[in-house]
Amino acid sequence: MMITGKTRLAGVVGQPIGHSLSPILHNAWLKAADIDGIYAPFALAEARFEAFIEGLRGGSVSGLNVTLPFKIRALAVADQVRDRARLAGAANVLVFQDDGTILADNTDGLGLILAFSSQAPGFNPQAGPVAIIGAGGGAQGAAAAFLEAGCPEVRLLNRTFDKAEQVANSLGKGAQAWTLAEAGSALHEVIAVINATSAGLLGAGLNLPLEVTPPDAVIMDMTYKPLITPLLSQAVSLGRRTVDGLEMLIGQARPSFAAFFGQDPPEEVDVRRLALDALEAGS
Ligand code: NDP
Repeated sequence: MMITGKTRLAGVVGQPIGHSLSPILHNAWLKAADIDGIYAPFALAEARFEAFIEGLRGGSVSGLNVTLPFKIRALAVADQVRDRARLAGAANVLVFQDDGTILADNTDGLGLILAFSSQAPGFNPQAGPVAIIGAGGGAQGAAAAFLEAGCPEVRLLNRTFDKAEQVANSLGKGAQAWTLAEAGSALHEVIAVINATSAGLLGAGLNLPLEVTPPDAVIMDMTYKPLITPLLSQAVSLGRRTVDGLEMLIGQARPSFAAFFGQDPPEEVDVRRLALDALEAGS
């Protein structure tokens, strides 16, 4: 594709950013939809985030995905904040509007719900309580999305109980704080367990007593490196359905693409295959 003065530009900002799969997803969609646009990675020194964002006001870049460690600061730089981003306490999307203002959104929660729809067909978030392990940005976004989808009760289990309590208080009705040590009780009668900790990243796993969950409970892990985490392996060995973090990543990217390029991404591209290839190649 020829890059011209009219090419629309979007991207992802984080530190580090070299491992990000987002450029692979978005550029594959741009190519398939024949859109004159590119999606670029931006690595920043941590202190430069606000200055960088300020400089983009006015639409020279149509929008950015925001990833670690900037998701909370992304809320503060915005002039308008979508309700779901406010509830999640973090933004993964910034849209630069022509009038110079910045809109913050959070599509992680929607990505999570889309991942359940595609990998656990028939799953109904309204059917019972959900357990979310963790109390960081990912956990808060997931809890907000499930509450918004009509889930009657979200149980937040965290190693540091105070953090779970803070998040539960900020979410309000329907959210409860538990300690990780209470997992044996908290995982009873849940319809889903979602790992939103970074514990799986090291391959150490969490040693959750998944055997107390009902046989039709769905087990999800936000970590996608490795794709099959120790938690998901444990779930499979117990015969539970599973949802992986890569499907959530793809799920959050779809509405991000629409926000940056003004149309839904084309369905026909197998972006999951492309992302899996990149993961296998060590991206
Ligand atoms: P944060 O750093 O905000 O939160 C990390 C959480 O993990 C905290 O609750 C922390 O507990 C807990 N934790 C860390 N290590 C351990 C451990 N050894 N045992 C138990 N708990 C532990 O991270 P995020 O919420 O932003 O992200 C969490 C994970 O989700 C990351 O792996 C991230 O990559 C992934 N993620 C994936 C997405 C996707 O699209 N697939 C989207 C968003 C996030 P404590 O409070 O006690 O420190």
